[in-house]
Amino acid sequence: MLNKLIKRRSFTQAGLFTFLLQPVITYHSFAAQGANNKVSGCCLMSGGDKYISRSRLGPSSQITNPKSNQAIENSGDPHFDESLGIVLADISRLFEVRPGFAYFDDTGSPNALALPDSHLANSHGTVLFGKQMLAMNKQHPYGDMFIMGICAHEFAHIVQFFSGYHDRLSNNQSTKKFVELHADFLSGYYIGKRNISYSNAELYSLGESWESIGDSSYTDPDHHGTAEERLEAIEQGYRLAKKQPSLNIKVACENGMKYLKI
Ligand SMILES: [Zn+2]
Repeated sequence: MLNKLIKRRSFTQAGLFTFLLQPVITYHSFAAQGANNKVSGCCLMSGGDKYISRSRLGPSSQITNPKSNQAIENSGDPHFDESLGIVLADISRLFEVRPGFAYFDDTGSPNALALPDSHLANSHGTVLFGKQMLAMNKQHPYGDMFIMGICAHEFAHIVQFFSGYHDRLSNNQSTKKFVELHADFLSGYYIGKRNISYSNAELYSLGESWESIGDSSYTDPDHHGTAEERLEAIEQGYRLAKKQPSLNIKVACENGMKYLKI
């Protein structure tokens, strides 16, 4: 999908850090609100809490120097980074947020995560994508779909941090399940909202990948939802965007709450 995008559009200077370092502009209404800094962060799947440590990232002045900490500014594949930069800019526009984006070393435990605090200049919140997670999916024939879904899921957490939804989804809950399923719903909404016709194989592959990140640790505070719940959440978000393509992110967020009966 990312490769398709780059063929269809002509962007010559759209590297990831070009995207990251653009000034914050006014349509980012969620970014104008304060984040809930009590929140430690949100991972794609359970077992990622060990990555959520501000001390590993360093302040924004250091993050552009890959030797100084564990945030990595590019994947090592400039063509891919350029394509991903376009997709990230698109998610940013539709979700009305502007987090910083970088890769990190997730060797041995592939994951991705979102943090409410900012580690890059002119950003609100931070999204980190594991390099192992990336490498695994780049080898898969339809891995681009999953990579796009993961990015949208993490950007959805940024929306939650800056809009009060994270509190609404986590108050009085013993697990992270509703926070995660709401982010899955918004990821599906983003994928459905794009003006692209996906093949059945692409959608089937995305569904299969999404099922694979479910877990059955129902009582673990880090429980993210079962395979069935996660698949249904992303499907419902996708269907909403296809049925009502003019909905904005704020209405999509509320639809996600209704879907989860919160
Ligand atoms: Zn998540």
